[in-house]
Amino acid sequence: MKCTKCGRYTLRKDKCPVCGGEVKVPHPPKFSPEDKYGKYRLVMKIITGQIEVSEELKSRVLEKYYKIHSTT
Ligand SMILES: [Zn+2]
Repeated sequence: MKCTKCGRYTLRKDKCPVCGGEVKVPHPPKFSPEDKYGKYRLVMKIITGQIEVSEELKSRVLEKYYKIHSTT
């Protein structure tokens, strides 16, 4: 974790032990929730037929979609 106030690194997750500032994860995850949401929307568009794709691709997308939903 890294303090947003003084820039020190700390293992604490609530606040900086030096200045009491807010701490955050220094390296944000590569894939943001927006990306996931965008992918989900794209999949939904393919499933609902808003985007025209080949039957083969559609079935592949559907397969992936159901795999994702059965694991979560
Ligand atoms: Zn600090």
